[in-house]
This record gives sequence, structure tokens and C-alpha cells, in this order.
Amino acid sequence: MPEVEEKIQCPCGRTINDASEYKLLFLKKEMYEIDLLCPNDTCFLRELGFVKFRVEDDNIKIEKASFYPPFVTWNVARLGKEKAMTLLKQHLRDIVNKQIDWSKIKESVKTAEEGAGS
Ligand SMILES: [Zn+2]
Repeated sequence: MPEVEEKIQCPCGRTINDASEYKLLFLKKEMYEIDLLCPNDTCFLRELGFVKFRVEDDNIKIEKASFYPPFVTWNVARLGKEKAMTLLKQHLRDIVNKQIDWSKIKESVKTAEEGAGS
């Protein structure tokens, strides 16, 4: 058996050890979508996934958190489906629960909505 490093990797070659390494970008405010970017600045894929949410009575509700197919396929091919899916799900959970500063997101959603309304 060849030695396989059991870590998530971007197709660009960058190993992603845990959820804290993704870059989070909240540009699509009106779409309530946070982009998950590869930590490698020169990555050809850049966008690895997204988190979609909505705001209900001042509460954040996660609608969908997902990685894009090229990134998922790459890791499934390397690690096998079970291992890759377990790791990727863990990353998504950690991103949503630990990495995203939701109070900051809520603030910036509010600002965007007020801006659009005036
Ligand atoms: Zn990359």
C-alpha cells in the first residue's frame, strides 16, 4: 500500500489541515452567501465551497453548507469516498460553528439591508 497522507487537499496541491485554514469571504451579502476559499493565493480554483444562510428574527439559520464538486471529487479520488466525506463534513461543521464570526456577519447584513432600503 502506498502511503497516503490522510488530509484534505485542494487540487492546487495545498493541504488543508483543518477548518481554520480556509479563507472566508462575505461579498455576496444580498445573496446571504459566504465563500470558502483555498488558503493558497495563487490557487486556480479559489472557491472551494460556500455557506448559505438566512436571517430570521435576528437569528442566523444555515440553509446550506457545501463544497464544490471539483474539490470533493479530488479528495474522494485520493482518500476514498468514506474518508473524504467524513473529513469534508467535519470541515464544514467547524467552519459554520467555529470559524465564521456570525455576529459580524449579522452586522454586515444589517448594514447592507439598510443601505439597499434607503
Ligand atoms: Zn487551492
